[in-house]
Amino acid sequence: MKVLVAGGAGYIGSHCVRQLTAAGHEPVVLDNLAYGHRSAVPANVRFLEANLGDTVALDRIFAAEKFDLVMHFAAFCYVGESVKAPMKYYINNCSATYALLETMMRHGVMKFVFSSTCATFGVPAKLPLTEDMPQAPINPYGQTKLDVENALKALAHGQGLSFATFRYFNAAGAAEDGSIGEDHDPETHLIPLAIWAAQGKRPALEVFGTDYPTPDGTCLRDYVHVDDLSRAHIAAFDRLAQPGTALFYNLGTGQPTSVLEVIKAVEKVTGLKVPVKYSPRREGDPPALYANSAKAQADLGWKPKFMTIGSIVETAWRWHKAKPGGYGDR
Ligand code: UDP
Repeated sequence: MKVLVAGGAGYIGSHCVRQLTAAGHEPVVLDNLAYGHRSAVPANVRFLEANLGDTVALDRIFAAEKFDLVMHFAAFCYVGESVKAPMKYYINNCSATYALLETMMRHGVMKFVFSSTCATFGVPAKLPLTEDMPQAPINPYGQTKLDVENALKALAHGQGLSFATFRYFNAAGAAEDGSIGEDHDPETHLIPLAIWAAQGKRPALEVFGTDYPTPDGTCLRDYVHVDDLSRAHIAAFDRLAQPGTALFYNLGTGQPTSVLEVIKAVEKVTGLKVPVKYSPRREGDPPALYANSAKAQADLGWKPKFMTIGSIVETAWRWHKAKPGGYGDR
């Protein structure tokens, strides 16, 4: 399939572009490089620089090319920032997405794959999280993703759009060859920050909260490899043939892993000590989030290749060792 990958220069999008090529598809990347990296896109993949909300540019792109499907990774994803600057999130994550959907559908492109998040669930009443559990986001980031999920349902019902939406748990790791990986600015995620602390790039890793009702007092999360996420997206393509198809999947390994367990894994993989500073809880962090991905496994034949935190950290370490300065374009 010829696939437009919005946000294809970002962390998850760039990994998906490689998986698309490996699976025999033709990805074309659309990115405004606000957070993405030009060099994360392989030289043999076409790159279009534009804002999603730029309807004139989008119109030109869809008039010139016949895409079979659009994948959408181009979102702002900082929970804390979304609380402080919600309009930025509503404009980019909702308005720009609606502009993309309106334009693609007007040009007859009726298949869509959307990256959503476990943040749409808020603080879950029960774990592990299945797709049918109530969604009640506790921050604007999660709310913008849920708003788009609801818009997609209406578009499938009313206008025949076919879509799959994936609610990621904690995307982590890097390409197995170490060629691309995670390079956020600012970086807020646990695994890269633990590696930076081990490498001496940060004085210490702050552990946010040691008094949670969990076995070791730190938060439990479900870390899932970025290439495994990508493979699930591509596996959904075949299920979008019927107009009006609406698919929702939670994607994680189902293994709850604590902050202290991540630190141990980083120390084991790197052979370096992670200096730690114990700090108060970070606002908005639920104590535990982990997925039940049985639906993705049953429907899509999806099985994560990276089932242990150690195997995920190994790939992240390969990337950080190869590119200590990340892509070096900021
Ligand atoms: N975390 C931490 N120190 C950090 C960054 C994160 O203790 O410097 C914790 C955070 O409180 C959460 C877990 O690590 O429990 C994963 O956080 P991350 O920001 O990587 O992903 P999130 O779960 O917020 O999407």
